[in-house]
Amino acid sequence: MSVPHVSVIVPMYNEEANLPELHARLTKVLTGMDVASEIVYVDDGSTDGTPEQLETLLQQPQPVCVRAVRLPRRRGKTAALSAGFAIARGNILVTTDADLQEPPEVLPMLVSRVQSGEAHLVVAWRQQRQDTLFRVLASRLFNATLRWLSGLSLHDVNCGTKAMKREVAENLEGWMVSDMHRYLPILAARMGYRVTESPVPHVVRRRGRSRFGAGRYLRAMVDLFPVSLMWWRGWQVWLTLVAVSAWLTAMHRPLGWLGLAMAMAWAGGALALWWHGRGFSRRYQAR
Ligand code: UDP
Ligand code: MG
Repeated sequence: MSVPHVSVIVPMYNEEANLPELHARLTKVLTGMDVASEIVYVDDGSTDGTPEQLETLLQQPQPVCVRAVRLPRRRGKTAALSAGFAIARGNILVTTDADLQEPPEVLPMLVSRVQSGEAHLVVAWRQQRQDTLFRVLASRLFNATLRWLSGLSLHDVNCGTKAMKREVAENLEGWMVSDMHRYLPILAARMGYRVTESPVPHVVRRRGRSRFGAGRYLRAMVDLFPVSLMWWRGWQVWLTLVAVSAWLTAMHRPLGWLGLAMAMAWAGGALALWWHGRGFSRRYQAR
């Protein structure tokens, strides 16, 4: 089989109920594209029937190349995507969730926008989002904050469905810790890649349940601290915190010390991530 041009990476935690339909639809979509492709399923330490189903898929003859990797225990979506990036062979890497909330039929359109050179990364935009009101509002607030911080006009940074040039994924590798999958489009933009969005339909999760609990909001906030320091706006907020905390400390208010400790943790997190990402960010293709 020829080297695939497009790799579709699907992180999965306990998605046995979705895998049959997902696989059937992905196969149909990919065989309809006139380029060689592969599907890379990443089993994030599932405890249901997902590993057995994947084993069966791998043993059956398939019209598209199917590969799978299993993490020995659940390590989260970011680690699962990172494992997928590591084994994917395509020039264009596509990520999508297993729950079929964004129809796989949109993937060729995202790929074509990367293929044409219009963008290095295209993220799907769930314009008519079919989730609870609370989640929709939280997402609106999150995206508005990111727009304010970064100056980028993206509406749905955390949509799981994206297509990107291989080089972008390689340079994001150093950032694939914690729950950083939420920030990939803005990190890529900060690295200088052209990032754009495409509206896609969105449907309710029909099977299985969301794999993230309320802890997602805390993780998103903690991860946002270091990410924010990639922009001048983030530094402005940080400097304000330092100035206010220093003033409170001078006024003998204990709150000042708390603020200063927070500012140090914030800067320390950014430094640690910058250091982690540094060694990886030297992969460029001649074009
Ligand atoms: N996922 C994963 N590991 C996790 C949590 C989620 O691999 O620890 C996968 C999950 O199986 C799905 C995708 O990441 O394919 C998005 O998860 P989910 O649909 O639960 O997230 P939501 O849409 O609620 O943000
Ligand atoms: Mg989902």
